[in-house]
Amino acid sequence: MTADSDSGPRLTRALDSLRGLSVGDALGSQFFVPAHYPLLKRRELPEGPWQWTDDTEMAASVVAVLAGHGRIDQDALARSFADHHDFDRGYGPAVNRMLRLVREGGDWRELAAALFDGRGSWGNGAAMRIAPLGAWYADDPEQATHQAEISAYVTHQHREAVMGAMAVAAAAAFAAGAAGPPTPEALLDGVIGLVPRSAVGAGLRRARDMLDYDDASTVAAVLGCGRRTSAHDTVPFALWAAAKGLGDFEGAFWRTAQVGGDVDTNCAIVGGVLAGAAAGAPPRQWLERTEALPRWLAARAV
Ligand SMILES: [Mg+2]
Repeated sequence: MTADSDSGPRLTRALDSLRGLSVGDALGSQFFVPAHYPLLKRRELPEGPWQWTDDTEMAASVVAVLAGHGRIDQDALARSFADHHDFDRGYGPAVNRMLRLVREGGDWRELAAALFDGRGSWGNGAAMRIAPLGAWYADDPEQATHQAEISAYVTHQHREAVMGAMAVAAAAAFAAGAAGPPTPEALLDGVIGLVPRSAVGAGLRRARDMLDYDDASTVAAVLGCGRRTSAHDTVPFALWAAAKGLGDFEGAFWRTAQVGGDVDTNCAIVGGVLAGAAAGAPPRQWLERTEALPRWLAARAV
């Protein structure tokens, strides 16, 4: 199946975002290594290569499905997640088990709905992988939220996880718009307008109120920074950091990483949102130290 005629520029933007996401994820995860804590304080880079984690692996499936179908096909997405699931990439235990069962023939609809005693996961996993989809739909942020919603259900069926994915997709769409990155206020106002009432939405309104703060650790203490790995504990801070750092990948990365929390996922979200626009591309040296995108993706999408 081939994507529609618009897919050239859309795919280019999505891949740019995915590369930024992978740099944020891979470099961010370096700072879970205790020997690297002093480097983080001094904003110095560890030696490469930096390996990416589940955030990048799942985001590559999102891009592959968009490239192949021109939209999110849930069954294709579930199949790609399961087929390319590498146990050693830092997935949470619930998703590890679920993807193994899908690979063995289980129905993702039943498995995702049954997680956490039937409430579905409210983890940040649907949000961490979705920025490239937002970049794909830079010309249509509302469609980005619809497609993000559909994509979330494949693994994360709790309302907050879905809202988190919608918010990140909207932010990435606005950030990659043809007119260039918006102001921080315009970015968050645009996102808030597309996210229904929810804890994620409430967090985003608090994030909007705190755009005049420069101290990221105070903002992270108020909004959360993924220590509980929930969508509402992750997405508002990550999008605050993205809004503050539009057009400045390097500064945004350090500001996000230095607050701690779910560092690889926070930095994957920020990197993916920024890098869909040319102005937000990661430094070349950072890209060179980051593990290349999965080979199976290159065969299917590039
Ligand atoms: Mg990860």
